[in-house]
Amino acid sequence: MTEEQEVFLKHIQQQGLKRTAQRDLILDVFLRTEGHVSGEDLYRLVREQDPTVGQTTVYRTLRLLTDAGLAREVRFGDGRAHYEHHYKHQHHDHMICSECGKIIEFYSPELEAIQDAMAAKHKFELTEHLLRMIGVCADCRRAGHEKKPDGANRPKVRAATRHSNS
Ligand SMILES: [Zn+2]
Ligand SMILES: [Zn+2]
Ligand SMILES: [Zn+2]
Repeated sequence: MTEEQEVFLKHIQQQGLKRTAQRDLILDVFLRTEGHVSGEDLYRLVREQDPTVGQTTVYRTLRLLTDAGLAREVRFGDGRAHYEHHYKHQHHDHMICSECGKIIEFYSPELEAIQDAMAAKHKFELTEHLLRMIGVCADCRRAGHEKKPDGANRPKVRAATRHSNS
């Protein structure tokens, strides 16, 4: 059994649940999928392996994986929860392109330290944080410049333009 399987088994036993072939399969598919998957994505991938697995089972198991510390829920502003590997993975934050949906992962010790300092200043016990930066990626900015500048292809989300005469 892998470390992840042991962590999962321990968690489901604590919950008074049984180990099942379907739960094992969902864990396995999740661990083989790098990046960020939504519940629907995972459901689709699991169904490719075993069409008898129900959507509810997939969603419930994702919840178990999250509670067990194997998965981390991340939100990119599209209203859906996405999940990524969490166990023994270094913490990171995300930049999301509002044009193409690309996700850039980054880690900044300075930003982490500032968040800790802010929490301490407010006597706030920080247990987790989700930092999401929304904008336009380099590829989309380049593509936007190549298109005609009539505003039709302008990014939907951008910083307000400041007019010096207003
Ligand atoms: Zn962070
Ligand atoms: Zn983009
Ligand atoms: Zn990520």
